[in-house]
Amino acid sequence: MRHTPIVAEIKLDSPLQYVKGVGPRKAEALANHGLISVRDLLYYLPRNYLDRTTVLPISQLRVDQSATIIGEVKAHGVLYGRRKRYEVILQDDSGPISLLFFQVNRFMQSRFEKGQVYAATGTVSYFQGYQIIHPDLERLDEGSDRMVHAGRIIPVYPQTSELNRIGLNSKGIRRITTYVFENLVETTEDDLPGQECATLALPPLHEALRSLHYPDSREQIEHGRRRLAFDELLQFQYLVMRNKHQKQTTKKSHSYRKPGPMFARFKESLPFELTNGQRKSANDIFHDLQTERPMSRMLQGDVGCGKTVVAVAAAAYAAENDLQVAFMAPTEILAEQHFRNWKRALESLGMRCALLTASLPAAKKKSIGQACASGEVQILFGTHAMMYDYVTFKCLALVIIDEQHRFGVEQRARLYAKGENPDLLVMTATPIPRTLALTLYGDLDISTIDELPPGRLPVRTVWRSGETRDKVYQFVRSELEKKRQAYIVFPLIEKSDQIELRSVEEEYGHLVRDFFEGIPTGIVHGRVKSAERNKLLEEFHDGRIAVLFSTTVIEVGLDNPNATIMVIEHAERFGLATLHQLRGRIGRGDKQSTLVAIAYTPIADYARQRLDCFVSTNDGFRIAEADLELRGPGEMFGVRQSGMPELRAVRLSSDYDLIKGARILLQKLFEGDNRLDTEYRNLYSSLRSTAGVGHPRLGGG
Ligand code: ADP
Ligand code: MG
Repeated sequence: MRHTPIVAEIKLDSPLQYVKGVGPRKAEALANHGLISVRDLLYYLPRNYLDRTTVLPISQLRVDQSATIIGEVKAHGVLYGRRKRYEVILQDDSGPISLLFFQVNRFMQSRFEKGQVYAATGTVSYFQGYQIIHPDLERLDEGSDRMVHAGRIIPVYPQTSELNRIGLNSKGIRRITTYVFENLVETTEDDLPGQECATLALPPLHEALRSLHYPDSREQIEHGRRRLAFDELLQFQYLVMRNKHQKQTTKKSHSYRKPGPMFARFKESLPFELTNGQRKSANDIFHDLQTERPMSRMLQGDVGCGKTVVAVAAAAYAAENDLQVAFMAPTEILAEQHFRNWKRALESLGMRCALLTASLPAAKKKSIGQACASGEVQILFGTHAMMYDYVTFKCLALVIIDEQHRFGVEQRARLYAKGENPDLLVMTATPIPRTLALTLYGDLDISTIDELPPGRLPVRTVWRSGETRDKVYQFVRSELEKKRQAYIVFPLIEKSDQIELRSVEEEYGHLVRDFFEGIPTGIVHGRVKSAERNKLLEEFHDGRIAVLFSTTVIEVGLDNPNATIMVIEHAERFGLATLHQLRGRIGRGDKQSTLVAIAYTPIADYARQRLDCFVSTNDGFRIAEADLELRGPGEMFGVRQSGMPELRAVRLSSDYDLIKGARILLQKLFEGDNRLDTEYRNLYSSLRSTAGVGHPRLGGG
């Protein structure tokens, strides 16, 4: 792109409304999407790019392939049948294909017209002809759009029906950005010193933005992405390091004596020896508790490695010192289980425990709140419910958060604020790749339990296609005859018009009739009342129920060593992390466990890869790394942590050099003070002033 002569002065802070071709109506729609100034628009980046050279003729498509085709609309309309759907027939020189949409709305009729040309991207399936279900669509006609016809790479912007309705589809947006780039009188201010750009081979900011909007090649897109990723990482890690620094300079107001007889009795009461990993982690934690700085520690380890007992040991130590503990879990099922499992052992040592969840009667919640305020309750187990205002503590000194990735930053902060610089222990069963841990949790110290308790057998995992379903359930049935128990997991609670998936409520009846007649079964999901659910889980735990049908509510925490079978229905729908967490529910005893993942066609390429990876390893760390990688280059964005700027351009699987580069640069800024060059001082002060203010919007969404 060349600069053309300036015809109107457009500056970065100019409101979009006054840019040629926008006007008040479009400006309003853009503003609804967070786009107000020219600068916002420059950061509104394509969510995808179509590469013309990879477009296939329709006749050469293969089933299950992910492909882009370009064709003309031949017909379109609603189809009625078992399920209502909207069909668009697209045709190129080689043949037709049917595009199907299961969400039919008014907008569809007016959106498509015969003769329009679209690029459609998606996974190809076959049913009386080629079809793509819910393709990504990009309209390509109207010869006036020179970008489309100039380049081989076509940027696709995030679309919403509101933007589409007033002509701000990808093409409409491109028209505006073209004009802006041609008439912009300023270049984007760039805080990053040139020397840093050179070291990391990053382009200047304005060049990066330009190549993301108007790439000539894939390499340019990647180049631009890396630059924005670096900016995000710098800001993100600035906040993380600042937090860490703040923590290092505060003192806590409570203190611990050396572990005494009560704690020794707790240790003796455990039915097993701690593993080395558990012992090491417990030592880290006890050491932190005894220092004068508040602890900020993450305890990580694969599902089933035994994190809970380490956390409970810390809780018991706190209670022995007359300090209060809040132990928060993300689901009622899990909170109730912790309470059930540990109440007796702790109370027999004279430690006072309580459970607080949202589904308790109001009066009960109130009385527990009072018991916490008076100091009567020492260890409070519970869910989000314990963050509410009516819960106060006399001296909250230790906050434990189980499955911490399930909580947002503010939620953790809210519980934390109920104490005065309490110690913080967070736990996660989702093993975190090194790069991710460095980025997201740079302000936490990390203890890792890297072994499972002795005697565990790795879960045998296979995946099968839907056609062999009957055989799978016959196998389950035969295992039940050996007095084992089984989980059967579904993606949905009840049948939905929107998505064609088996639901637990619908299938429960069928499966019981066909395979489990005369066998005690139960069904648990998010809408089962908590009293009922507890009863069922207790019965499952005691072996009175043999088969538990459920949704992913059982994903975290549940612990029944005699359950050795799991079937996951529609496994193609679940992410790797969820699959692995679910697998963690079995293989908890000394008997061989088996997991069968059932996938139904059409199975997209990426789902197939995911399943292949899932069955190939039991190692949570490898799963986590693969998960990052499989999200793949098509998806630029991923990690969200509320309260922190989003990492949208960052690709954690490949940006390790940027993460490291940002840390080195920040160290330089933190330590350099007045010896820094002006350029660096400017960067530092701009980081300080934008910290926490939010982040430029990238890629919409
Ligand atoms: P997670 O790390 O996934 O939270 P849990 O704390 O739920 O794992 O522990 C899983 C199971 O292992 C529990 O039944 C627990 O009692 C048992 N367990 C924990 N530590 C040991 C150990 N050292 N030896 C034997 N069993 C253990
Ligand atoms: Mg756990």
